[in-house]
Amino acid sequence: MKLMFVGPPGAGKGTQAARIATRYGIPHISTGDMLREEVKNETPLGKEAKKYMDAGGYVPDEVIIAMVKERVSRPDAGKGFILDGFPRTDVQAQALEEFASLDAVLNIVVPDDKLIHRICGRRVCRDCGATYHESMLEDQKTCPKCKGSLYIRDDDKEETVKKRLSVYKEKTQPLIDYYAGKGILHDIVGSGGIDDITEAIAAVLDEVK
Ligand code: AMP
Repeated sequence: MKLMFVGPPGAGKGTQAARIATRYGIPHISTGDMLREEVKNETPLGKEAKKYMDAGGYVPDEVIIAMVKERVSRPDAGKGFILDGFPRTDVQAQALEEFASLDAVLNIVVPDDKLIHRICGRRVCRDCGATYHESMLEDQKTCPKCKGSLYIRDDDKEETVKKRLSVYKEKTQPLIDYYAGKGILHDIVGSGGIDDITEAIAAVLDEVK
């Protein structure tokens, strides 16, 4: 199954994409995670991408397209994959059609006020990458799973979050209509419990298979 998860920042698409990838045994390909890895390793690509990411904008299409094209050509993606955070622009969607054909697009829908609350409280483990909301951590200063240190993503500051939401509406929202027109779009209510959302997605995928 070749799937794509789309949704505004903070919709929980990364969390859900990871869970569905494990359940179906296909790789979770997150362009945001791939870029953060490049930034962490201070590669030339990472240094270039960081400028756009910290400003809440998009990394140039040609950089992202080359990165995803290479990743989906690896053997583990042969029987399917989940794209998380790609495509995000019309140019990326057109490029994708040249090297892969999606079976379904899952659109995670969450109201704006919830998104800001979720992102601004997000804490990420530096070691295992798990994400938490500060309200669930109480006084814990380290990752409940692995005791790694927790940090706030540079692009999760409130001003940057507002910019990311407006860029999403302008550049990525139109893709939703594009995939609806192709008959492969499925809206998922993303404001309930994490397990309920995973089951709602799995129910849709059972129909797609
Ligand atoms: P995410 O973790 O998916 O929210 O991505 C974090 C940041 O990485 C975004 O705000 C963008 O700056 C950049 N990014 C991730 N995926 C893409 C993409 N497909 N196109 C352009 N920029 C991207």
